[in-house]
Amino acid sequence: MAIVVQRPKLKWWEHLYLPALFSGMKVTLGHFIATVTRKTKVTMQYPEEKWDANLPEHYRGAPALVTDEHGRERCVACQLCEFICPPRAITIKPEEIPSDDKWAKVEKRPRAFEIDMIRCIYCGLCEEVCPEQAIFLRKDYAITGTSRAEMVHDKGRLYEIGGVRTGLVNKWNELK
Ligand code: SF4
Ligand code: SF4
Repeated sequence: MAIVVQRPKLKWWEHLYLPALFSGMKVTLGHFIATVTRKTKVTMQYPEEKWDANLPEHYRGAPALVTDEHGRERCVACQLCEFICPPRAITIKPEEIPSDDKWAKVEKRPRAFEIDMIRCIYCGLCEEVCPEQAIFLRKDYAITGTSRAEMVHDKGRLYEIGGVRTGLVNKWNELK
């Protein structure tokens, strides 16, 4: 059923539109005075000023790979993150670790590991699913590039963003 909305009856001075204009200007003037007297700060002077100090503890920024304290790649190329990634932003090409390598016990490592940051939706599922604590969402939010190719983070870039993470990873536990 259609509802008829009645037009409000305007007083004679409301037809002049001046009261509405002045009340709008009053709001603008209030904001202007608050900004000039530094009661409110509307604009952050990015990139000179950054959010870094104010980011929440569990902020989800760019996903990145990490190495452990021995410089080893934690990733064992299991491809779980590639499988779970909703927008299919991750591409992994695994390779076998040679039998004479000191980390041969692990069997596999990623020969290539790419994350397309145009596709990534920062959901954090890759971090959650990783059995090796090898991929983390870091507090990196300034992800830019001048081409689509630049927005695809390769293995080198992912380790550069990720850095080193120390701590127990079961695969490396001597007791296992
Ligand atoms: S954060 Fe989500 S979308 Fe981005 S790479 Fe990880 S699983 Fe994929
Ligand atoms: S980052 Fe983790 S989940 Fe992804 S392939 Fe490597 S070990 Fe598997």
